[in-house]
Amino acid sequence: MRKPVYLDYAATTPVDPAVAERMAECLTLEGRFANPASRSHLYGWQAEEAVELARLQVAELINAEGRELVWTSGATESDNLALKGMMQASGSGHLVVSAIEHKAVLDAADWLEKQGYAVTRLTPDSTGQISVDSVAAALRDDTRLVSIMQVNNEVGTLNDVAAIGALCRDRGVAFHVDAVQAAGRVAIDVQAMNIDLLSLSAHKMYGPKGIGVLYVRRGLSPRPAAQIHGGGHEQGLRSGTLATHQCVGMGAAAELARQRLVNEPAAIAALRDRLWDGIRDLPGVRLNGHPEYRSCSHLNVGFAGQDGETLLMALRELAVSTGSACTSATLEPSFVLRAMGVPDALAHSSLRFSLGRFTTEEEIDHAIGHVCQVVTSLSQATA
Ligand SMILES: *Cc1c(COP(=O)(O)O)cnc(C)c1O
Repeated sequence: MRKPVYLDYAATTPVDPAVAERMAECLTLEGRFANPASRSHLYGWQAEEAVELARLQVAELINAEGRELVWTSGATESDNLALKGMMQASGSGHLVVSAIEHKAVLDAADWLEKQGYAVTRLTPDSTGQISVDSVAAALRDDTRLVSIMQVNNEVGTLNDVAAIGALCRDRGVAFHVDAVQAAGRVAIDVQAMNIDLLSLSAHKMYGPKGIGVLYVRRGLSPRPAAQIHGGGHEQGLRSGTLATHQCVGMGAAAELARQRLVNEPAAIAALRDRLWDGIRDLPGVRLNGHPEYRSCSHLNVGFAGQDGETLLMALRELAVSTGSACTSATLEPSFVLRAMGVPDALAHSSLRFSLGRFTTEEEIDHAIGHVCQVVTSLSQATA
């Protein structure tokens, strides 16, 4: 029996074999296994050199400097450090987020609200976009931070972070971007986009799970308050021994992402459009998200009249999800689709197909045939 076709790249990506090879070189005695903070011997210096090269590789992907990056355990930690760190550094004040951020941002915002900070949650339009005007209208004299994602993880809609960045810079408010789903799919330029803080995760860009970065603009004031205290690593912003192999893996993944940004997104978008063209004429099918202003990887589809969970179970030859992996354990319809104004029934019937580097035309054609067959037979069963 063949394994299901993997179409859940937005939940996580496999590690690129070239990345895995680089990581393996950093594990054993023959390789760069040492503690990068060991300053007294060659082993430590070599590990540190590898970590610093990786830092530069990640920095280059977003047009930052190496010293502006803080290694973290992943984007959940990066988002927490950005939001809690910036608000705590101010001591009081107002935070603006969108209502369809990743839970790492939304739950951190909820926690801050309980601590006494004021929080505004912006509603997207029906395509999942946050308008610059809505951000402008939400700003107050005591607004300390705006946090808006570049690409939504469920529907793939892109936000105009450059315009929001220009607004925030003009108004003297710090701007954080969760760019996890953007890396390797669309260009990220922290300087041109006036971004002060930015979160990335390696495992959404063909690197390993368990490592990410937070970009903190040089000169940003105040600096975020550390959330993890220890040996004062990472300029005191994030203590803990650096995982050399994880850092090197993220660096290699970033280098590949940068090189492939020229051609890869267009090739993936072509496969995504092939999938859409193959299923769009099925009864009740509707696209969730922006028709054009969308990441190459994402195709979120409502199948009106179907139950999403039933559909998911019936699509045995595909590995897809109903939305984000973090909320799929609940029977609640996606809060993202709900915030976009998608009716509950349609939200319940929606699936996210997400494609990536290793998706093939043959897999897409197999997926089209399988979706058409399953949806048709389920429609007949309920008719
Ligand atoms: C996956 C994801 C995260 C969390 O990243 P981890 O490295 O898994 O903690 C945060 N934001 C977005 C948009 C994501 O897709």
